[in-house]
Amino acid sequence: MDFNNTQIAFSMKSARDLRNAKFLFSTISSPALVKTFKALTLAALKIRFPVSWIVKPTLYRQFVGGETLEECTKSLKLLSDYNIKSVLDYSAEGGSTREDVLRTYQETIRSIDYARSNPVIAFTVFKPTGMAVGPLDACSAEEMESFRERFFSLCRKAYDNDVRILIDAEHFATQDIIDAITEEAMELFNKKRAIVYQTLQMYRTDRLEYLKRLHSASIARGYIPGIKFVRGAYMEEERMLAKQRGYPDPINPDKITTDRMYDAGLEYVMDNIDSMELFSGTHNYDSNTLLAELIDKKGLKRNDERVWFSQLYGMSDNISFNLAAEGYNVCKYVPYAPVKDVLPYLLRRAEENTAMAGQTGRELQLINAEITRRRRFRS
Ligand SMILES: Cc1cc2nc3c(=O)[nH]c(=O)nc-3n(C[C@H](O)[C@H](O)[C@H](O)COP(=O)(O)OP(=O)(O)OC[C@H]3O[C@@H](n4cnc5c(N)ncnc54)[C@H](O)[C@@H]3O)c2cc1C
Repeated sequence: MDFNNTQIAFSMKSARDLRNAKFLFSTISSPALVKTFKALTLAALKIRFPVSWIVKPTLYRQFVGGETLEECTKSLKLLSDYNIKSVLDYSAEGGSTREDVLRTYQETIRSIDYARSNPVIAFTVFKPTGMAVGPLDACSAEEMESFRERFFSLCRKAYDNDVRILIDAEHFATQDIIDAITEEAMELFNKKRAIVYQTLQMYRTDRLEYLKRLHSASIARGYIPGIKFVRGAYMEEERMLAKQRGYPDPINPDKITTDRMYDAGLEYVMDNIDSMELFSGTHNYDSNTLLAELIDKKGLKRNDERVWFSQLYGMSDNISFNLAAEGYNVCKYVPYAPVKDVLPYLLRRAEENTAMAGQTGRELQLINAEITRRRRFRS
């Protein structure tokens, strides 16, 4: 796979979009600037000082589809013109009061309704902790029951509408609870095909073994597990928590081990593709190349419904657009929410891009190459 074809990679972007992206990635490549921006934004929020005017034309424009489902329609349509489907991701992370939870729940229901018979949407998704009032690992039996009800009713809604639903993975401390409920939901709703997808963070030392156990259990119980792989987004926090609370670090000792685990997971599912389905969420060149090769080597159709590639909206378009141009199934996670509610997500993206110096450098290099190519083409 060649991910460096910038004409294909940025075919959706106007000259203004490219200039905005260049400015943004240059800015967030500086950790000091991101740190200052984060501190100022959080302070402004505390005193209810409006931040939309600075966030909306910059970070928000790059990484978010819109404030509402309806506002995302244009971006979704544009992506689908290039053979890229979407995952509608309501990304409000404001708080965990009963009102917040009900609002997130209702909006997720709406996203499932919207996805039904809408061919540009390939999956729906929710963050499990968004369905719980208060911390999941310390909630009352009554609240746990309400959480389960919301969880199952979202999965049932997806099943009734024949829409696939991804369950995002979060912190280690709550993941066992989420895994257990997701397995129950998969057993209920994935009899004929994967509707409910579980997320495995391959930066965890135990996930490959878990994958194999899950697969054996699914065969014994007669269901098809949907497996979403990611490397994992909370590494530093997890290492710190393990130290503070005195349990073994659940994260692999180094990046190479995580990369190996991720790729071994891909190979395992592809070797068992008749009894599992796959969603690979990564911006990593090698893992995306490996999966594309495995699809071809195994003689699957490139658009086999059981195998999907995915990247986040506003990131690694070179991977998404080039894979889609080659006929593979690709979808973008498209976050949407009002500016103030999506700020934690945006700050994570800014920090992630700063932390991944290589990633930011790569984005900038590709954007610059495309700006130069267009200039040359015009002259
Ligand atoms: C479509 C999509 C959906 C996602 N959904 C989720 C989700 O539900 N839950 C979630 O947690 N994250 C999710 N993520 C984020 C994901 O977990 C990664 O943080 C992010 O994608 C970067 O990893 P990568 O594979 O793209 O790239 P890479 O740059 O190749 O990998 C970076 C990742 O490698 C791991 N890593 C880095 N250094 C080390 C080290 N020293 N030791 C061990 N491991 C290391 C970390 O996980 C780090 O994030 C999602 C990402 C995508 C694209």
